Amino acid sequence: MKNITVIGAGTMGNGIAHVFAQTGFNTTIVDISETALEKAIQTITKNLDRMVAKGTITEVQKSDTLKNLSTSTSIEQGAANADLVVEAATENEGLKLKIFTQLDAVCKPETILASNTSSISITKIAAATKRADKVIGMHFMNPVPVMKLVEIIRGYSTTDAVTNTIMELSKQLGKVPVEVNDYPGFVANRILMPMINEAISSLHEGVAGVYEIDTVMKLGMAHPMGPLQLADFIGLDVCLAILRVLHDGFGNPKYAPCPLLVNMVTAGYLGAKNGEGFYKYQKDSKELVVSPRFKS
Ligand code: NAD
Repeated sequence: MKNITVIGAGTMGNGIAHVFAQTGFNTTIVDISETALEKAIQTITKNLDRMVAKGTITEVQKSDTLKNLSTSTSIEQGAANADLVVEAATENEGLKLKIFTQLDAVCKPETILASNTSSISITKIAAATKRADKVIGMHFMNPVPVMKLVEIIRGYSTTDAVTNTIMELSKQLGKVPVEVNDYPGFVANRILMPMINEAISSLHEGVAGVYEIDTVMKLGMAHPMGPLQLADFIGLDVCLAILRVLHDGFGNPKYAPCPLLVNMVTAGYLGAKNGEGFYKYQKDSKELVVSPRFKS
């Protein structure tokens, strides 16, 4: 593998492109938005600067990483030479099916097509192509340059050879890959999202406040971040979308999203990315302030 294309330059796309470029791959980021592409390069540069300051990488490694990166607003141009495509576009099933049909048409026959989806069925995505055996889930965690895990999801038709290639490649990136099968939420979100939903229900039912719920889980269960802060960090819209996939996929009411989460997303409170969720975020401040809506 030499040429990697990452589709989507958002939170995950820029992190995924960063680790591939830093490992020495020719990495092309494709996004429909020129602004998102510019922002991605700025974010990667800022993160590399931080790594240089910490002594994790050298100035030379930083400039080599940046030299390995290019951008494009065209899937046709950006993916034609790819040996592997990692799709990290917006979590929307219709959009992903469209992107994979397009990738199948423009990529070489041997190119492996991976998706970073948090919850959409890899088997369904694969069915939008004529190469279901070469479609796989590569679920990186946020922030990608820091988090070690990659959940590798085998679709119904993914071959052993493709799975082994992607497992080995993930190790080359310095990650720890874990192989799982394609069922709703895979493993990470099947376990994480019901916990987050239960934390929101506890708040909704008045069992305890935001600070109290997060403190119980941080200090009592040794979680580095409480579930409500984590929900804000992931994005409340993303949490809601994943819970809906679990609810639809298993048909079990235990996955029904808490009405408070539905209301917050409907009202546009999406968490850290747009300034307010369970906490209120101020630019240039790391202080964790509970949203005034939840102050008793
Ligand atoms: P994001 O909203 O930050 O970025 C999505 C990007 O996709 C945007 O820049 C958008 O312009 C671009 N895009 C939309 N349509 C496109 C198209 N047709 N072609 C190219 N680019 C297109 O989203 P994100 O948080 O980076 O999530 C991306 C994927 O990663 C989703 O599938 C999500 O479920 C998954 N994921 C997210 C997290 C997380 O913590 N945010 C963690 C693991 C996995």
